[in-house]
Amino acid sequence: MKSQEALQRICQGVARFRAEVYPAQRSIFERLKHRQEPIAFFITCADSRIVPNLFTQTGPGELFAERNPGNLVPIHEPFVGGVSASVEYAMLVLKVPLVIICGHTDCGVMKALLHPETARDLPDVRQWMRHAAQARDRLLRESPPGVGEEERLRLLTQLNVLLQMENLKTHPSVASRLAAGEVEIHGWVYDIASGSGWECDPQSGEFKEVGASG
Ligand SMILES: [Zn+2]
Repeated sequence: MKSQEALQRICQGVARFRAEVYPAQRSIFERLKHRQEPIAFFITCADSRIVPNLFTQTGPGELFAERNPGNLVPIHEPFVGGVSASVEYAMLVLKVPLVIICGHTDCGVMKALLHPETARDLPDVRQWMRHAAQARDRLLRESPPGVGEEERLRLLTQLNVLLQMENLKTHPSVASRLAAGEVEIHGWVYDIASGSGWECDPQSGEFKEVGASG
């Protein structure tokens, strides 16, 4: 698609939103005019196939989001990056009671971690991927021999979510609110093919389906 065509499609969407969608939900947008009170901080990949409000069936104002390739949360350090600023704002200003770190199937960053040669010409991506290197190291250490490619990718995606949950806890604003029992951190994987979400059970480390009955 050419840039003009893309822009036209997006602008038409904006016009339709303003003419049809906004008036139908006017009270919600009126309420949000001067303040937000999100119910969760949702950290997920920049991948276009993940639409957090759609797949969690939440609305405007309900999810405060941080998105980046691979849904990574660098360990806290003096240099302030965008992720650190989002974390601090979510914790200390919005005081969200819940954080969900959500990986997904078919993630380009996870695939590049398994095959670093594919990111040879992407120096910035390679630098960024360092924040997930421990997950790959753990996969290489722990995965039984003979595990197929698809299964390795699935395991790495889960291990990365677990690693980012730990990284998140190194941020002082998170640590203090965790200690006070004011926030919970959950780790999910969204399955693009089936539309299902899988949540890590903190006891067993296994992932089970979100919202499954029984
Ligand atoms: Zn991704």
